[in-house]
Amino acid sequence: MVSYSVCVYCSASTTDPDLISLAARVGTEIARRGWQLVSGGGHVSMMGAVATAARAGGAHTVGVIPKHLVHREVADVDADELLVTDTMRQRKQLMEARADAFLTLPGGIGTLEELFETWTGGYLGEHTKPVVLLNANGFYDGLLSWIDELSQRTMVPARARDRLVVVPDLPTAFAALEPATATQ
Ligand code: AMP
Repeated sequence: MVSYSVCVYCSASTTDPDLISLAARVGTEIARRGWQLVSGGGHVSMMGAVATAARAGGAHTVGVIPKHLVHREVADVDADELLVTDTMRQRKQLMEARADAFLTLPGGIGTLEELFETWTGGYLGEHTKPVVLLNANGFYDGLLSWIDELSQRTMVPARARDRLVVVPDLPTAFAALEPATATQ
């Protein structure tokens, strides 16, 4: 039986040691729970740290990477499954299909793109999987306050905003990702 799979979206470029360590803790915790990791299949920055730590803890890791990024993001050749897609769109589709829940950590525009696609997909009824955003040390405060402003201007309905579970720390994040307590 395939174990519960969490897809983690995060930076593929930061060198901030606190963020690298946060990503590693996420990988360790996924393994400790006997879950499986689905990630972007890169071996750099936070993305590499989460996969390496998950594997070190004994988790099965699935990396999904488009062929044109195999070199730039240093494909995670140690992944238990490394799936190489033709395009970025196929990557996202496959990551989403292979996951039971999504966790977004701090990241840049690639991470935001992945978060928004998964979040809007959930809000529009394309899937019922938990979509969790870890607002570590207020990293996403600016984005969230802008979204609140858009809600006040009636451009983001409450049910759309509520589809995203925003959490401040890892214990709350993992509680929100749990199959038993999963929303929807
Ligand atoms: P970043 O948050 O910009 O460091 O990117 C994190 C990850 O998102 C990297 O693996 C990028 O390759 C990936 N990424 C960037 N753009 C996209 C996109 N349009 N769709 C899916 N993933 C993307």
